[in-house]
Amino acid sequence: MPDLVVAGAGMAGLVAAAEARRLGATPVVHEKLERPGGSMRLSSGVVWRHRDFDRFRAECPEGDERLQRLVFDRLDADLAWLEALGAPVVERDTGNPLTRGARFEPAGLSAALASAAGEVRVREPLDSPPDSAPLVLATGGFGASRELLREHVTAEADHVMVRAAPGSTGDGLRIGLAAGAAPSPGLEQVYARAMPAPPAHVEPADFVRLSQLYARHAEVTNERGERHRTATWSEIDTAQWMARQPRARAWFRVPVAALGERVRDRRVGEMIDAAEAAGAPVRREPEHVTVECVAGVTTTLGGLAIGAQARAALDLFACGADAGGIATGGYASGLAAALVFGRIAARAALGESP
Ligand SMILES: Cc1cc2nc3c(=O)[nH]c(=O)nc-3n(C[C@H](O)[C@H](O)[C@H](O)COP(=O)(O)OP(=O)(O)OC[C@H]3O[C@@H](n4cnc5c(N)ncnc54)[C@H](O)[C@@H]3O)c2cc1C
Repeated sequence: MPDLVVAGAGMAGLVAAAEARRLGATPVVHEKLERPGGSMRLSSGVVWRHRDFDRFRAECPEGDERLQRLVFDRLDADLAWLEALGAPVVERDTGNPLTRGARFEPAGLSAALASAAGEVRVREPLDSPPDSAPLVLATGGFGASRELLREHVTAEADHVMVRAAPGSTGDGLRIGLAAGAAPSPGLEQVYARAMPAPPAHVEPADFVRLSQLYARHAEVTNERGERHRTATWSEIDTAQWMARQPRARAWFRVPVAALGERVRDRRVGEMIDAAEAAGAPVRREPEHVTVECVAGVTTTLGGLAIGAQARAALDLFACGADAGGIATGGYASGLAAALVFGRIAARAALGESP
């Protein structure tokens, strides 16, 4: 008999199971899809925190300060733990002066965690809490459910691009609410990215490469010609705004003079070339290039309400995107929250000091 059941073999669930095994327990991880990894496997693999806690608070002002403090205080030690499991670090830098952390190779990260997690039952979704063991919900939120996106996030849900692994359709939220857990604030908030609009063809393996991160250099308008000015380095405000515009679309009009500008490791012109090659509508004029983009919903930021021990209800714990209230009002690393609260959830569920 397992002494801990985990729903979801993505970042948070595999971390929880690996931590449980370190403590001598015998967890079982259920995974809905045919292989472990979830959105972690599709991600850029950058696990990060803000360098400065006040900045974290200022950028995510509606989040629960106790939960944010745990991510901030514990991430560095948890990154060392992750690396000790064999997760391959590509870079010990995030490429962003405001943050610190490490970039992992996502397939290697998924494989190292899956091997540390022990028994992972693929194609065996969990539908309800087990009778005899505590449950850790780590099903990755509801970013892949158009129905729940329509209910909580945007009337334009049929038009957004789902830029997330397909298994994350809100099972954790449903199971948790049915078991007496409460929803967190911010169920209407998502982390999203501008992506090349249809007829562009975007495979999951291209989610990172095809993101269009240059609103700061563009004039951004919706199809009514109304303008939006980005105000954040992550451009999450622009992508969230796009998700709520007609057909979740925006047009990024970039001066030719800005095509050589760098955003992290890419130039604006390279991002536009990639969108055009994928089939997005791109109009080139002597002074400007205009790209049609669509909001790509990557992960939901609201979920189940948890306390500092990741508890959502009796014998029920939630972590990763199933737990809300951390990045509310802004954006923070989903992988970092999954790592820190995955470990906390396992320890609390097993009666160890979290
Ligand atoms: C393209 C892309 C780039 C990203 N880049 C970054 C980045 O660089 N840094 C960062 O911090 N974050 C990034 N993210 C976000 C990050 O991947 C997520 O925040 C993180 O994976 C959340 O972890 P999780 O365990 O909650 O969900 P996931 O890792 O998605 O795992 C959830 C798992 O649960 C499974 N599941 C669903 N329902 C059930 C069920 N009923 N029973 C069993 N299993 C179930 C799913 O199939 C999935 O395997 C990115 C995401 C994407 C898509």
